[in-house]
Amino acid sequence: MQKDHDIIIVGGGMVGAALAARLGNAGFSIGLIERGDAPKAPSGDYDLRISSLNARSLAFIKLSGTELPKERCCPFRHIDVSNQDGTGHSVFSAADSDMKDFGLFIENRTLQHALWERLKELPSVTCYTQSAPVSTVAAGEARLVELDDGKMLSTRLVVGADGARSTLRQLAGIEVTSHDYHQRAMIINVETELPQQDVSWQVFTPTGPMAMLPLPGHRASLVWYDSDKATKAREAMEDDMLKIAIEAAFPKRLGNLTRVVSRASFPIKRQHARRYIGKRLALIGDAAHVVHPLAGQGLNIGLHDADTLADMVIKGRDPGDYLNLLRFECQRRAANQAMIAATDSFHHLFTGAKPLRQLGDLSLHLAERFPFAKRMMMQQANGRNPFRMW
Ligand SMILES: Cc1cc2nc3c(=O)[nH]c(=O)nc-3n(C[C@H](O)[C@H](O)[C@H](O)COP(=O)(O)OP(=O)(O)OC[C@H]3O[C@@H](n4cnc5c(N)ncnc54)[C@H](O)[C@@H]3O)c2cc1C
Repeated sequence: MQKDHDIIIVGGGMVGAALAARLGNAGFSIGLIERGDAPKAPSGDYDLRISSLNARSLAFIKLSGTELPKERCCPFRHIDVSNQDGTGHSVFSAADSDMKDFGLFIENRTLQHALWERLKELPSVTCYTQSAPVSTVAAGEARLVELDDGKMLSTRLVVGADGARSTLRQLAGIEVTSHDYHQRAMIINVETELPQQDVSWQVFTPTGPMAMLPLPGHRASLVWYDSDKATKAREAMEDDMLKIAIEAAFPKRLGNLTRVVSRASFPIKRQHARRYIGKRLALIGDAAHVVHPLAGQGLNIGLHDADTLADMVIKGRDPGDYLNLLRFECQRRAANQAMIAATDSFHHLFTGAKPLRQLGDLSLHLAERFPFAKRMMMQQANGRNPFRMW
């Protein structure tokens, strides 16, 4: 039997679940298809994967009626950027832009779980877990989606939020351009002598940036970007050796490290879908774009895609209206392309050849000297258009 939904969302990660919650809260009938199980409640130790949420992302999540557990969130008010050799240093403070904070850090699994808890409260949302699409076809005013358990769903708009290896994107025949940075991000959860101080620290080294992201209490998440080879060597180290290596490379911002709690590493690449839309189909989040994570914006721009699409669906008469989808593509492609270019330039400016690194130093000095330039950078990072004056 065929089941109808206003909108079908493939992928119940943070971006897909946020869109489902926002549209479900606005009364639309939503089918959310997730390959895995519903996320479990976070308990005990902090998870390795954490993300920053900026003001626009937080406002979007709030509109879905989702409550984030305060005890597992860590707001931050300053971003401290410097070079390892001490040649450039700039501190960005939320207060300089009349903001209370820049947003907060939260574990990925905590955010995803909070969104799914909200979905359970929304009667118009149906979650199809342990399910994946095997085919999709546009049929007149609808799109049909066949699931791997034989269910057939019909909808006026199908949204692919199924991550970088999106099945929906492949089923729609949408290709991607991609670039391998030949780098890995090693994430190390550490216990620190001093408690977090509302600061996110970023230190550029010739082989890649390092970041110390705050977590509640005496905990932080250290992200260390480096070549595949150097990262693999660090992964093989015992905890004590790794602690010494971190202390040698990263300034003691929170006193001594008292413990390495856990670690893992991820390959770094960028990817961009050639199209975000098709007939009654749209891609959002990592299904549409993957950016270098050094600026902590991948999830944010995915949530901004969801925000823009939700706004058009709520204001429009037909969720799959092609002109609306074209507007979505124009708006989001321009913003995402700008973020891809910015993170790419950061990567090359601070880890490239010496002349490029000197240019990177200069940009930190300029940011320090010209508050206007600094404010524009902060607005961009917060999902606001820095050229908009009203
Ligand atoms: C090291 C690192 C650090 C990062 N730090 C930050 C940060 O600080 N801030 C930030 O904004 N971003 C950050 N990012 C980026 C961020 O993690 C991603 O952009 C974000 O997770 C993308 O979310 P998503 O929901 O689009 O995709 P995903 O998180 O990949 O979720 C996709 C979902 O779809 C499901 N799925 C997959 N295939 C199917 C299928 N065929 N059928 C049904 N379901 C399917 C999956 O099970 C999953 O639940 C970081 C990335 C990395 C690698």
